[in-house]
Amino acid sequence: MSDNCLFCRIARREIPATVVAEDEHLMAFRDVSPQAPVHVLVIPKAHVASLDDVREFSIVGRMAEMAASVARQEGIAERGYRVVMNTNADGGQTVFHLHLHLLGGRSLDWPPG
Ligand code: 5GP
Ligand code: ZN
Repeated sequence: MSDNCLFCRIARREIPATVVAEDEHLMAFRDVSPQAPVHVLVIPKAHVASLDDVREFSIVGRMAEMAASVARQEGIAERGYRVVMNTNADGGQTVFHLHLHLLGGRSLDWPPG
């Protein structure tokens, strides 16, 4: 838990978000600035700054499982989607609470910029 961390505050429901899935350990909510018709963030409720700071990697598997479940729920699983974890400066990470982006609902370019 981190008092002033944005995503900790969303996990504690101090800041509103459109939650699309939740369990004991994780929350999935819509990105406030969507880059695709479906853009959902999956976070652990416990604070971890980035993938580089994870020490117990089972949480990452659970995040992937929730992303796959939300993709089915959102109706994008068959057409396809992308999951991304931007990590530290070169990865383009701006919020330092671990999160997985689930992007879909349109054809996505590769490679990223
Ligand atoms: P990053 O750049 O760290 O990989 O991704 C952070 C994401 O968090 C961005 O896509 C950004 O739009 C999203 N974001 C930032 N602030 C908020 C917020 O207050 N609420 C929600 N739902 N998303 C946010
Ligand atoms: Zn946090």
